[in-house]
Amino acid sequence: MDPTGAPAPPGSVEDFLRYFKDRFERLSSLLRMRMDARDASTVAAALRAGQNSEVKMIGMVREKREGDGKLVVVLEDLEATATVVFTPRAGSSAYDTATRLMPDQVVCVRAVKIAGDLFLAKELVGPDVPLARRENTKLDGPLYAVLISDLHYGSRSFLHDLFGRFLSWLKGEVGTRRLRELAGGVKYVVIAGDLVDGVGVYPGQEEELEVKDVVEQYEGVAELLSELPDHIEVIMIPGNHDACRKALPQPAVPKKYAGPLYEDDRFHFFGNPSLIALHGARLLIYHGNSFDDMVSTVPGMAFDRPLEMMRLVLWARHLAPTYGLKTPIAPLAEDLLVVEEVPDVFHTGHIHVAGSGGYKGVLLVNSGCWQAQTPYQRARGIRPTPGRAFLVDLHGLGVRELDFTRPELWA
Ligand code: FE
Ligand code: ZN
Repeated sequence: MDPTGAPAPPGSVEDFLRYFKDRFERLSSLLRMRMDARDASTVAAALRAGQNSEVKMIGMVREKREGDGKLVVVLEDLEATATVVFTPRAGSSAYDTATRLMPDQVVCVRAVKIAGDLFLAKELVGPDVPLARRENTKLDGPLYAVLISDLHYGSRSFLHDLFGRFLSWLKGEVGTRRLRELAGGVKYVVIAGDLVDGVGVYPGQEEELEVKDVVEQYEGVAELLSELPDHIEVIMIPGNHDACRKALPQPAVPKKYAGPLYEDDRFHFFGNPSLIALHGARLLIYHGNSFDDMVSTVPGMAFDRPLEMMRLVLWARHLAPTYGLKTPIAPLAEDLLVVEEVPDVFHTGHIHVAGSGGYKGVLLVNSGCWQAQTPYQRARGIRPTPGRAFLVDLHGLGVRELDFTRPELWA
């Protein structure tokens, strides 16, 4: 799945209406595949139920309000709206889950009708992913992909030395014997966006740029990546710093900016997000643009805990649930941000903090960055973890974090 080339309508009210209907229908069908949501009714049917009777309905979160130790969620579908109250007493796990609800996501609620359009929630179900298999962290060879992101080439803070060390390792020039052996099995380098720092991304960025022209930035990236041995292919998607549409889903960076990255046939540029298969392993690659909104709206989410956000996204089966905050969304005819297919590996970046883990058999990797802390990040208290790469074996899906900041490993 690659959104590049999917037509983006201008963004009239009708376009958005069609987009959100498509989202609602896709996520409803994912919910209805679950045993516990299969028999859910529409909101209108729940409104017709008698007082004190139990109902189950699927709706999109229109609004979430907190206060008095309870949580009020307004749910809507294509015809009607209901007000659902979550209290710790009526259903404590439902209440806890509801605190992490994001506006515009689609969920199923089992509730008791109190009066009129008012319901008391007993259970809250997200589309979620089915439990597929046991999680595996042991690395097994001999076919690997290396997952990285957020080079920010062109920034004064781009870490030339660490990235050079990473390339030298892949060329078999540095590393302990075991690490060189592993390098020999690497067939793919996957980059989850922010290849370059871009230009005009935030006010005052000019001061922080070493390369001030965006085409020259992509030339620089292409020059570095072309050092890779011939048998390695590079798969890239854009991020919010790259030179393409900022609204999700983002198409691949056009040739007029990233020309040199299209000249080498080992390089493959896709959109953000993309779902690709490498020797049977399915990777969902997403830059992570919506993590900003999740940190600002969901309690417990933080810039130094990427895995929590990745789990929440999989639970919602949507990469960017909330519309209207900092993550622009293009109203495509089909909502390509719905996680239709459950991947084997979910790879993100954007928040510059590396981490890996699992969720219901899906391997989660947030791949860090190759840029030192910028003044912008310092002002916001964000402490990046640069110089990390994740080696994933494409058969057993084991993972190993490689730390290029430790000189003793890379002599
Ligand atoms: Fe970035
Ligand atoms: Zn980013």
